[in-house]
Amino acid sequence: MLAAAIAFAEGVADKRPLPRARDLTATVEHAKLHPEIFDKARKDAAARARGGKAPLRCVDAVRAAADLPFDEGIARERQLFAEAVESTESKALRHVFFAERTAAKIPDVPAGTPTAPIRKVAILGAGTMGGGIGMAFANAGISVVLVDREQPLVDKGLGIIAKNYASTVSKGRLSQADMDARMGRILGTTTWDALADVDLVIEAVFEEMGLKKEIFGRLDPVCRKDAVLATNTSTLDVDEIAASTSRPEQVIGLHFFSPANVMRLLEIVRGAKTAKPVVATCMKLAKDISKVGVLVGVCYGFVGNRMLHAYGREAQLLIQEGASPAQVDGVLTGFGFAMGPCATGDLAGLDVGWRIRKGQPRPGPGERYSGAVADRLAEMGRFGQKTGAGFSRYEAGSRTPIPDPAVDAIIADVSKELGITRRAVTDDEVLQRCMYAMIGEGAKILDEGIALRASDVDTVWINGYGFPAHRGGPMFYADTVGLAKVLSAVRELEKVHGKVWKPSPLLVRLAEAGATFGSFDAKG
Ligand code: NAD
Repeated sequence: MLAAAIAFAEGVADKRPLPRARDLTATVEHAKLHPEIFDKARKDAAARARGGKAPLRCVDAVRAAADLPFDEGIARERQLFAEAVESTESKALRHVFFAERTAAKIPDVPAGTPTAPIRKVAILGAGTMGGGIGMAFANAGISVVLVDREQPLVDKGLGIIAKNYASTVSKGRLSQADMDARMGRILGTTTWDALADVDLVIEAVFEEMGLKKEIFGRLDPVCRKDAVLATNTSTLDVDEIAASTSRPEQVIGLHFFSPANVMRLLEIVRGAKTAKPVVATCMKLAKDISKVGVLVGVCYGFVGNRMLHAYGREAQLLIQEGASPAQVDGVLTGFGFAMGPCATGDLAGLDVGWRIRKGQPRPGPGERYSGAVADRLAEMGRFGQKTGAGFSRYEAGSRTPIPDPAVDAIIADVSKELGITRRAVTDDEVLQRCMYAMIGEGAKILDEGIALRASDVDTVWINGYGFPAHRGGPMFYADTVGLAKVLSAVRELEKVHGKVWKPSPLLVRLAEAGATFGSFDAKG
């Protein structure tokens, strides 16, 4: 390399002026003759960008290089850059970049806090989550013991993992040798013998408090004293689970998102007694398994699902009042979400939420029940994609939602039974209510100290829920709208829809001071 470089330098030592890129007579005829190349690139970029403009500007800049003389091309590129850098989208994307890095910093768990190496992990429950979590560790070179109650359940879990890897191999994104190595790191078993020497246990059994407490109680005498004991619960009280062991300081929540081998977000749930080295170990672990770890506190649904609940509630109430599922989903995908809430429900299965709601108390006086339409669909066996019908209809083998007039009739019936006179709902109302409900809940989460910073909330939503990165996350988006405007809309909504819209003291304080969630974060 060095010899070749020296030879090249000597070869041009006497040549002046050296040719410049601008003087090259590159042939651009091909591009000129085939403008469809750029049209297609622009179309593809637009589909992926979900409303973001930067990727389109990139295509335009390359096109300018092909279509225009050098100086004009450079000027056009400069102009495109200037437009981009000034945009809210650019500020949002820079915010997202720094938010992700900031999330790794925990004020009372400074760098240098001791961490334990995680070389071997046991996962209890070889179901949907256990399998995906196992893959995330195996992909990172960490040994996995995958435990379930009976051998057929273990085999089923291992079979799904093998099928997932094989599909990646068939797409050419993983070699057979790598797949074999990853599978080789996962040992399936029904016995707990292998738990004696693991560094970390992740419990991913059914979402039942009694079962989880029993399991943690049984882990206590089996696992090493310094092992980290984690639960993947979505909603349950991590402190209550921790109290069923003699070492609550070793207990933490590691809330993965489905599919756990794909989704980047990891909510790390700090219990009241979780030791700082356990927090530090898990924050480092997130990085080691290529996840974005965000530290959250204990509450129902933590950060992500708690806000999702508020967002989903408004989507459903809007449908009760007059919107259609297609309108609600269309507004939110138009905003940049990968999927709308109804399509997401159809994908996850409407039976899941229906079963959960059956076990929960109905909202109290002054609060509306948002599950009425979804309940009715589930009662009719319309569970979503898996039954070919939910909020929308699905052709066999297709995941594309098709609006279904039968659903419109079902919704009209439900509205009537609830005594609601349906009305035209504007797209603006759909966006405002879904977003402001989410933002309002985010503000409460900050007020309660469940999240350390508004930017952590944004990081959760971008990495776990398909919130469009070019909007910066819900809290950043609120800042771009202006908190005074958000607050005044929330107050109007409170007048019409009652106490669920009561603004948090933090939102009131910031809005009245003309401040932002960004300034709240900056104060620390
Ligand atoms: P699942 O039903 O697919 O899997 C649960 C597995 O646990 C089953 O294979 C079951 O046989 C096994 N199991 C039950 N009791 C056991 C025991 N005593 N010992 C060993 N294995 C046992 O459920 P899932 O969707 O994977 O959810 C697991 C946990 O993860 C729940 O707490 C859930 O709330 C949480 N979670 C789920 C999701 C999701 O999207 N599915 C997302 C985040 C968190």
